[in-house]
Amino acid sequence: MKVGVLALQGDVPEHLAALGAVLHGDDIVPVRTPEDLAEAEALFMPGGESTTIARLLVQGGLWNPIADRLKSGMPTLATCAGLILLSHELVPSLSGLDPPTFDVLNVQVRRNDYGSQGESFEAPIRVEGLIGGPFPGVFIRSPRIHSVGEGVSPFAWHGSEVVGVRSGMIWGLCFHPELSGDPRIHRMFLESAHQALKVPISGATGPRRRRR
Ligand code: GLN
Repeated sequence: MKVGVLALQGDVPEHLAALGAVLHGDDIVPVRTPEDLAEAEALFMPGGESTTIARLLVQGGLWNPIADRLKSGMPTLATCAGLILLSHELVPSLSGLDPPTFDVLNVQVRRNDYGSQGESFEAPIRVEGLIGGPFPGVFIRSPRIHSVGEGVSPFAWHGSEVVGVRSGMIWGLCFHPELSGDPRIHRMFLESAHQALKVPISGATGPRRRRR
């Protein structure tokens, strides 16, 4: 399975490294153009600055191709800024600067709602179906999920607060699994994507693909 990482801005190297722990390098595609996207069967949308990523998506001609792939069900894991971009609706942020969204996850989200960079924190996260105990959640100027609408299931919680949701194979997280040094969520997502797409995963999570 070829897995893309949207590579316009943000913590792209960290996602590439996290994926490198569970996939062969030649199955990981940094996505900067529509041609790169066409190679990818699943997509990771990293954390970063959602307004900047949205602007670069439009400028680079990637907004519409990604919207089409999302609507056709491409398995996608979005973290932090990525979650903002997938959400149905943004509760206006304090800055008043809010990006357009793809509207494929029926949640209301507010940017920067856990505070500023200085208020970043780490906390144990309970993740449904994750073996091996709580997940180390890293929150950096994270969005908060204000409401979860029809068709969306919460699957990760910080205390009683929902910090991870999914709708089919579109997953969104307020925190950054790519920064925690723990590959379990990347692996869990890839295994689900593999089931959904019925394609083999290379590397540690599946059988090695034979090279030509
Ligand atoms: N606050 C950022 C935004 O609104 C997201 C933060 C992050 O991805 N770490 O885009």
